[in-house]
Amino acid sequence: MAYKKLGLRAGLEIHQQLDTVEKLFCHCPTWLRNTADHTHEFCRYLRATESELGELDRAAKEEMMVMRRFTYYAYDSTCLVEDDEEPPFSLNTDALKITHMIAKLFGMKPLEQVHTMRKLVIDGSNTSGFQRTALVALDGILPGGCHVETLCLEEEAAQRVREEVFSLDRLGIPLVEITTAPCLHTPEEVQEVAEYIGMVLRSTGKVKRGIGTIRQDINISIRGGARVEIKGVQELELIADVVRREVERQKNLLAIRNELQKRKAQADGEPKDVTDLFTGTESAILGKATAILAVNLRGFGGLVGKEIQPDRRLGSELSDYAKKCGVGGIFHTDELPAYGIIAEDMQRLWERMGAGGDDCVVLVAANPEQARCAIQQVLRRASMALSGIPKETRRLLEGGSSTAYMRPLPGAARMYPETDILPVTLDYEGQWDRIALPELLSERAARYVDVYHLDPSLAHQVAYSERVSVFVDAVARGVKPTLVARTITGTLREVQREGVPVERVDDTALLTVLEAVERGTLAKEVIPDLVRTIASGTQAEEAIQRYSATRFSVADVEAMAVRILEERKEFVRQRGKAAMGPLMGVLMEEVRGRVDGKVVSGVLRRALDRFLKEQ
Ligand SMILES: [Zn+2]
Repeated sequence: MAYKKLGLRAGLEIHQQLDTVEKLFCHCPTWLRNTADHTHEFCRYLRATESELGELDRAAKEEMMVMRRFTYYAYDSTCLVEDDEEPPFSLNTDALKITHMIAKLFGMKPLEQVHTMRKLVIDGSNTSGFQRTALVALDGILPGGCHVETLCLEEEAAQRVREEVFSLDRLGIPLVEITTAPCLHTPEEVQEVAEYIGMVLRSTGKVKRGIGTIRQDINISIRGGARVEIKGVQELELIADVVRREVERQKNLLAIRNELQKRKAQADGEPKDVTDLFTGTESAILGKATAILAVNLRGFGGLVGKEIQPDRRLGSELSDYAKKCGVGGIFHTDELPAYGIIAEDMQRLWERMGAGGDDCVVLVAANPEQARCAIQQVLRRASMALSGIPKETRRLLEGGSSTAYMRPLPGAARMYPETDILPVTLDYEGQWDRIALPELLSERAARYVDVYHLDPSLAHQVAYSERVSVFVDAVARGVKPTLVARTITGTLREVQREGVPVERVDDTALLTVLEAVERGTLAKEVIPDLVRTIASGTQAEEAIQRYSATRFSVADVEAMAVRILEERKEFVRQRGKAAMGPLMGVLMEEVRGRVDGKVVSGVLRRALDRFLKEQ
């Protein structure tokens, strides 16, 4: 597909957690907890407040269509600030320093004063009904010319445990939000830029790592389409595909719009109560509903059931809107008869609704209040289809790259000043000018190839590794670069795959092990065993002693080699030099981990040569 021809414009909003000791507005630690360890819980009803100009944000308004009660898990590592029972403390200066470093890395202009704002969010992900955010820098540039528009320092939201239950351990962890201009024009470009930004962030060495610590929102539009924001893409590899799917959805919705206009379709039908038509129905959902409402979408026939993304139809969009009223979904005649609704039911429905050939009748079944709300939402979304694509915030569906409607794009009415927090003034000469920029990981990888002659892919893995400081320190102390590189990128990962908690082996312990191998105290074959032993709680020094104490000397190995040759005389005579491989296997079985493999093979080769000569 020629994306440039379609006028694809995409931008990124990247959220990255910072690795600070304390949270953004209180002194609590930034650890994630096991939700089973929560010490107490409490609940909140959240409502939107009007902005200072008396406006109510449209996204918030929609969240309030059903009153929701949220439950929060609190811990011995959270305080009254997270509970919103105490005013926030001042802005975490370490977090601000890291944010400034990031701003400088992207060539951005810092703001002289950092003002904290409240951003209305009432989906339950915070206890206060807003998220605190502060604009820190503006206008940076990426390789390739795309601009970074803004850099904000924000507080992380609470983690959803399940529908309407949230965990407070994550709330308030400092987070930077980087927003690019909508200057990306192909799906691949979007993914590359996301990768680049992630790399720059990790180059600071001060961001959190691992699943969920970085999240990408992508905003996408095509010519004639609308700005749609897809929230929370966690896997980088999915980004290009998510963009392709959204382009496909917008293209298909535009084609549907054109067809609807040609048919002079209408979305202004009068909803009718059709509960009586379904007494004694075979459909379980219709059977237990106290109200069934229907509306005729004139000219929509066949288009509501048309696929716009894998497993998604215009009908799914209508359904997403209806679900905001608390209903489970909708039925529409494009997909009927089915779900226990039979042809006779449909016939009566068509007649009651005065529907004809290219119409589509939509049904909602619930209690009277929910049904009224839902059928209005269906009409609202259907009328949007007549003009094209609504501006929306959408979420990624599990197990793929299709998306579902979440809420309208928020408007300007959602931000207002946070008066509990004083602005922070930037001291240019004291702070900004003195920020030393770290080496980018991409540059570091290139340097490891040049200086240590590592293979480029190994160099890349080392440079991007969380254990890179072990590499730096070990090499400085004379350990061979390839030994360190293979240990941190290969051995640790292999042992981790067995389920061993290798994160318990801290950098100092690993360094001690590597130095012992370099000195010859340990064979490198025992590194995996040592990692397992240390991970299970043994001190590094003790573990090293245990493994080095059982080492064999070269003389021991020689004696063993001679014995093995004696025991397998016949075999060795038959095979000659080719016996080396099998014999090596036998010998290694006896000495594995207690003497270096290279030493063993040297000793055995010499013993074998001697043996063959003597024969
Ligand atoms: Zn706290």
